[in-house]
Amino acid sequence: MRKFTAEINEKDFGKEVELCGWVHEVRDLGGLVFVVLRDREGFAQITLPKKAVDREMFRRARKVRRESVVRVKGTVKAEEKAPNGFEIIPEEFEILNEADAPLPLEVTEKVPAELDTRLDSRFIDLRRPRVQAIFRIRHAMLQAIREFFDRRGFIEVNTPKIVSTATEGGTELFPITYFEREAFLNQSPQLYKQTLMAAGFERVLEIGPIFRAEEHNTIRHLNEAVSIDIEVSFTDHEGVMRYLEELVKYIHERISERCERYLEWIGVKIDIPEIPFTRLSYDEAVEIVKGKGEEVNWGEDLSTSALKLVAEDYSGYYFIVDWPTESKPFYAMPHENDPEISKTFDLMHGWLEIASGAQRIHIHDMLVRRIYEQGLSPESFGFYLQAFRYGMPPHAGWGMGLDRLVMAVLNLSNIREGVLFPRDRQRLVP
Ligand code: ATP
Ligand code: MG
Repeated sequence: MRKFTAEINEKDFGKEVELCGWVHEVRDLGGLVFVVLRDREGFAQITLPKKAVDREMFRRARKVRRESVVRVKGTVKAEEKAPNGFEIIPEEFEILNEADAPLPLEVTEKVPAELDTRLDSRFIDLRRPRVQAIFRIRHAMLQAIREFFDRRGFIEVNTPKIVSTATEGGTELFPITYFEREAFLNQSPQLYKQTLMAAGFERVLEIGPIFRAEEHNTIRHLNEAVSIDIEVSFTDHEGVMRYLEELVKYIHERISERCERYLEWIGVKIDIPEIPFTRLSYDEAVEIVKGKGEEVNWGEDLSTSALKLVAEDYSGYYFIVDWPTESKPFYAMPHENDPEISKTFDLMHGWLEIASGAQRIHIHDMLVRRIYEQGLSPESFGFYLQAFRYGMPPHAGWGMGLDRLVMAVLNLSNIREGVLFPRDRQRLVP
């Protein structure tokens, strides 16, 4: 019976199993050959004593090149010195596909490689257990997110990624050719998820790509990222902040339950964050930054260096709330008693922004005014604005970068580590 290496235990001792995988290592001791087989769950030692196995098979195994794909059938034997305490004495050793040599990249951890080199040969880099583990945990996070929102009555939706206008009026859009017209790759599902509030969906979740044509070259920006977006009717910014902190806590709980072995592979320990997260106001954050000698113009977004100063005092997850209305997109709802300030929040992890959200403006005329005030033209928001004229409920929502969350939870030094095939200013291949 075919098994994963990690599925073999004492119950299999003395029995026959079949394993498929890659040749991680070959050790030739003359009269004895060890082949370490690797599959996606771990390692198994295949032991070939010259005297005890078929001669032709022995010859084949000792010469097999590293990273070739093999199928092995044999008897499991207890062996303390082997990985997981067992070895396999093969009756069959079939090379399904021989790998070329030399390898473009080493799979063993012995030879460290630069991230760029690793990404160039990503298929082989992804074979490394430490790297595999990241994507197993990312999978568990996605599943936790879907579980969390499904239980709370959310409807998962898919909105278009090819659009005719900017979401936020920014210039950071990728233009594409759409038959005889120009179109763009969407920078956020914002306008669509709000439109679905007018459609009566009440609670929506979307997990999908966002495209940003920003020329950043940082450890936290990509040109294509995955965004977790929610929008909720009949609530305000506070209501969706609660969903956000509860979700983040739930994700930590689920991965610490489900991903013990993968966390071990990367050497990460998960601490379950306590909720509610601290709410730090923008004004308080500005005070901290100024107190440490850096200038901030009230009304502007906080720079990376400013956020690093704030993060000296606030570690882990916390919210920065009540941002200046002018620093946030036009759809953010201003506070009634002080319209200079908006009902907005960013979820931070140390200095890293993980999510942004707000109560939205649901009043048509107010929205049009804000579009003008931000130097945009209401004509380009036709379908969106129409939805506000015929029964738009009050609503709020947020967008969280999945890649940023993976980076934060697993303490990765670069967002690219947690993305299969990252897209940035330089990289379009693989
Ligand atoms: P930043 O200020 O860090 O550039 P932003 O405020 O421009 O981010 P938003 O428009 O608020 O980003 O998008 C919501 C979330 O989507 C962000 O909090 C972040 O987690 C994620 N995100 C946005 N842009 C990127 C990007 N270029 N690469 C990776 N994730 C991103
Ligand atoms: Mg933001």
